[in-house]
Amino acid sequence: MINKKSVKDIDVSSKRVLVRCDFNVPLDKETGEITSDKRIVESLKTICYLRDHNAKIVLCSHIGKTGKNISLAPVAKRLSELLNQEVRLLKDIDSEETKNVVYHLAEKEIVLLENTRMTEAEEANDMEFAKKLASFGEIFVNDAFGTAHRAHASTEGVTHFLPSVCGFLIEKEIEALDHGINNPKRPLVAIIGGAKVSSKIGVLTNLLDKVDTLLIGGAMTYTFVKAQGGKIGNSLCEEDKVDVAAEILKKALEKGVRMLLPVDNVVAKEISNDTETKICGVDEIPDGYMGLDIGPKTIELYKGEIEVAGTVVWNGPVGVFEYQNFEKGTREIAKAMADSNAVTIIGGGDSAAAVEKFGLEDRMSHVSTGGGASLEFMEGKKLPGIEALQDK
Ligand code: AMP
Repeated sequence: MINKKSVKDIDVSSKRVLVRCDFNVPLDKETGEITSDKRIVESLKTICYLRDHNAKIVLCSHIGKTGKNISLAPVAKRLSELLNQEVRLLKDIDSEETKNVVYHLAEKEIVLLENTRMTEAEEANDMEFAKKLASFGEIFVNDAFGTAHRAHASTEGVTHFLPSVCGFLIEKEIEALDHGINNPKRPLVAIIGGAKVSSKIGVLTNLLDKVDTLLIGGAMTYTFVKAQGGKIGNSLCEEDKVDVAAEILKKALEKGVRMLLPVDNVVAKEISNDTETKICGVDEIPDGYMGLDIGPKTIELYKGEIEVAGTVVWNGPVGVFEYQNFEKGTREIAKAMADSNAVTIIGGGDSAAAVEKFGLEDRMSHVSTGGGASLEFMEGKKLPGIEALQDK
């Protein structure tokens, strides 16, 4: 359970409410159009609640990296369409005009401040900048789960100046992840894939204390296989993490966690859709070949585990799913999760992108909007953007 106050626990009527949303949406490189408005749609529940309760609403968010100076103009346009009301973009937060507009907002009116990462002060969590942002509100609502793992001016800094609570998206994310990992319907099966063991050590270690079964996929497989003395050809391997991989395998054994590695895989000489592919045992990959997806026997093995699970948590694709040649494993895992009766939780980032690509989003219990944030949550870390909010 989330022990933080939410927007429902405070009176927002007639108040200026500064809302940190996650409008970091993907834009088409050529047209600048939004290619997925999922994050905007996910923010609507909190915004509509505030509007229904007569708040004066000041939205803010980052988009893209600091230094890229990407405008939130397409987001303001999309929000206006979705909310059926003009959402004005305030381009210069230092201007007198912006102050004027914000201080004279009417109830239910909504404005959007320009990209908080237009300045380096945002990521530096600069208190002067945080104070300036805070001056636009009387209450702060953080609903940006995607950046909750970062202590930035608009996520953590502002909480030093305003009464601060969470929005519905953060509440939903934490409840789903917390329930899935800390209070799950058992057996709890975690599928961990992706490129590197190094970026998943924290998750693997934390999950060893929580899960009944751990299914490994993706490129990180080969560091584990190497640790077991298998032949991995030219597959990705983090040589300096072979010992860590061996340690994780040992710990799983000690803790009674069933940790399964793929038994077979799809291999190829290069990552391309034109190249010839073969199936072989995961520990007998010929020189010159790379393991790029789980094979048919592994798919069946993992599907069996998913079928009997009470909860399945997934982070990281099990193959190079961006290429048709190597997407089958990831697709079949997603399908098995969609078909199962288990509580199914997708931990954002690439796994969420894969589920979206296969059109299975609506058939999962929860698809997180925050890759990094959900990863840190699964590592058992506290998220500063959430920690800083008022306790219930
Ligand atoms: P991560 O950000 O660590 O979750 O890694 C996701 C990336 O891992 C995706 O872009 C996948 O294409 C990539 N990936 C998954 N399996 C493999 C593999 N066997 N070899 C190389 N890359 C992989």
